[in-house]
Amino acid sequence: MFDVVISGAGPAGCRCAQVLAEKGFEVALIERDTNWRKPCGGAVSSRIFKYYPQLRKLNYAPITGITMYSGDYHELSYSWKNIRDYSINVDRLEFDNFIRAIAVDAGAHLFDKNLSVDFITKNNRRIGIKTKIPSGTKEYSGKILIVADGMSSKLAPKSGLKGKWKIDEIGLCKCAIMVGENSLDKHSISLFFRAYKGYGWIFPLDENRFNIGCGTWLDENLTTNLNQAFDEFLNDSHIKKFFPISQYKEIWKGAYPIPALGVKEKCLYGETIMIIGDAAGFVSPISGEGIHPCVVSGQTAAEVAINALETEDISTQSLKKYKQHPNIKKMIRNFKMKVSMVEFLFENKGQNLSKMFELAGTDDKIREEVINMFLFSIPPSKELLLKIQT
Ligand SMILES: Cc1cc2nc3c(=O)[nH]c(=O)nc-3n(C[C@H](O)[C@H](O)[C@H](O)COP(=O)(O)OP(=O)(O)OC[C@H]3O[C@@H](n4cnc5c(N)ncnc54)[C@H](O)[C@@H]3O)c2cc1C
Repeated sequence: MFDVVISGAGPAGCRCAQVLAEKGFEVALIERDTNWRKPCGGAVSSRIFKYYPQLRKLNYAPITGITMYSGDYHELSYSWKNIRDYSINVDRLEFDNFIRAIAVDAGAHLFDKNLSVDFITKNNRRIGIKTKIPSGTKEYSGKILIVADGMSSKLAPKSGLKGKWKIDEIGLCKCAIMVGENSLDKHSISLFFRAYKGYGWIFPLDENRFNIGCGTWLDENLTTNLNQAFDEFLNDSHIKKFFPISQYKEIWKGAYPIPALGVKEKCLYGETIMIIGDAAGFVSPISGEGIHPCVVSGQTAAEVAINALETEDISTQSLKKYKQHPNIKKMIRNFKMKVSMVEFLFENKGQNLSKMFELAGTDDKIREEVINMFLFSIPPSKELLLKIQT
């Protein structure tokens, strides 16, 4: 019997497992495939270093700038060099295995090639997780069960806490890692908001590798074909200018859904269960940044589990502290603000966003406000919103 069984060794599950194992608890970390590269842009803000200071030693190129484009290519650039700590762009296969190794070093037991398929139930109480392995099935019993297996989770809908994702509450994204000569600034990322509800990105990885992708959001998923949008994005003349030599090679590509409406508040905890990471919607609605929020959810769930185990109170009431934690409440509030901005920004084929960037180009005060909104989650003033609409 484990103290905690965690399904999914992505950023949320790994952080959760590490924190619990460091406190001496017995943790099973179940993963379906450690060779799978999660489709992801891999842009990670500097806030990650608080949780993984080890990343600083990996010599990532420091990312200190961003250029954002509206659907009709109004441009807004910002550099935080010498103002704030740098961000990094990671290859998710390398990153995930790096943080898995940290969890294992802390004492977590990683079980690879295990596909979680259901809960084990006894006397109407969930007491473990059942998995499929290449040679049959396995069972892992635990006092607390944590669902961290992302958007494809089989356990989350079976938990009774949440239903399956609906097509108009998620984003659909496709991306590729390419290698070849390019004229990208290696210290800056680029975001391309589209005239439809969606955006594309180019994130340099190292000297010649870069991650490129795009996604559609919410009701746009019903009308825009993702494969077509991806091809159009790659062939857009504004994008192609970064790749003057057309001899770049695609070395990997993938597509995956992403939560788009913020945290699913009602599904976060239940009897013996907590849901963390993407499976519970911990992704920032406008930017699609999920790695850091998912790590925070994993950290918080671990702290709540530690308290429950130490006080021998594994009641639903005790696990409720996860949802009530100030860090979780802050994210819920912040994501709600961003959800409310999405419709506004993409209104009239992205014209509000376009006007916002245009105004920011001529007025320093507005520029600061827009940057604060996108980068530091500070809501825009009513005056700015009115100005955009007139
Ligand atoms: C295309 C795309 C681009 C993105 N770009 C960015 C970005 O640039 N920056 C950013 O911060 N965020 C980005 N995100 C969001 C980010 O990828 C996620 O928010 C983050 O990976 C979620 O972490 P997680 O641990 O909750 O889930 P995941 O990373 O999905 O990890 C879940 C783990 O569970 C495993 N698993 C799944 N099902 C099972 C099962 N049944 N049994 C056992 N194991 C299972 C998976 O193999 C995986 O290892 C992007 C998302 C997409 C789709």
